[in-house]
Amino acid sequence: MKNQTPKQIAAFYHFQSVPADQLDSLNEKLEKRGEEMGLRGLVIFATEGVNGTISGESRESVLAWLKFASELLGFPEFQPKWSEAPEWPFKRFGVRQRPEIVTLGKPEVQPLPPRSKTHLSPTEWDNALENEDVVVIDTRNWYEYKIGTFKKALDPKIEEFSEFSDYVAKADIPKQKKVLIFCTGGIRCEKAIVEMNNQGFENVYQLDGGILNYLAEKPNKNFDGECFVFDTRVAVDQNLQPTKQYGLCPHCGQPADKPIECLRCDTNTLICTSCSELEEAKNTCSKNCAHHYRVAPGKKGKPQAVTYKNV
Ligand SMILES: [Zn+2]
Ligand SMILES: [Zn+2]
Repeated sequence: MKNQTPKQIAAFYHFQSVPADQLDSLNEKLEKRGEEMGLRGLVIFATEGVNGTISGESRESVLAWLKFASELLGFPEFQPKWSEAPEWPFKRFGVRQRPEIVTLGKPEVQPLPPRSKTHLSPTEWDNALENEDVVVIDTRNWYEYKIGTFKKALDPKIEEFSEFSDYVAKADIPKQKKVLIFCTGGIRCEKAIVEMNNQGFENVYQLDGGILNYLAEKPNKNFDGECFVFDTRVAVDQNLQPTKQYGLCPHCGQPADKPIECLRCDTNTLICTSCSELEEAKNTCSKNCAHHYRVAPGKKGKPQAVTYKNV
């Protein structure tokens, strides 16, 4: 029998400096406690703070870890953004150290103080979006933009966030223009806004709590499509439920919604739009089958142990 209680998922971040010589021991404590509590998720940890998505059987268990973490680190209480899923969105619990908790590629760019006037609530965001002369920029990657974004939003066409500075430098946007920026949970914009200020943009605002916070308050309003997430859910829909439309392409890892049956092993899977134009990828369910299809087309093989979601 399958457990029908949905897993509770919290996304959170906080910028506050952590002494470099304490990172290792704090990391170990954070990870150990999460494992002991039976949680699953990924937490990124650096001298500039912490950023994570974690999940548990109940909100209480997730909140207990968040409380433990904020007290251990001397941070204020986290303000998580919640969603849920029938299946675990992660395989295990891990705390990983990186130079930055979100990679702009410029560790010296540090966010504005919390609660500064540059954060718009979903209602303030809608007002500006609907009634003002604004430029809206999606600070996420091209494949995130592709499956869902805000009305009017520009796509910087970046492969990863570290390319955002270059995009802004080359973008043809007047420096005085009111600019609205957004991302999944708000953390990328914390740095993007400072980077834009540094480049001379004076009037930049970010969506507080990102798309996840917006959809919790305003489903089916100004955000169209689904919101990509970096875990096994792939994306969440307008009601923050795991996507029913997308899987991950077995060939390239992008969101995939084209059903195929593998010519080599008959496995059903979903592949992405780009791969559906490639002879080997569009006819196979996995890198392994693509290889064998290339060397011995027409020959059948054992089904691959791939179970991509929604298939
Ligand atoms: Zn693909
Ligand atoms: Zn196959």
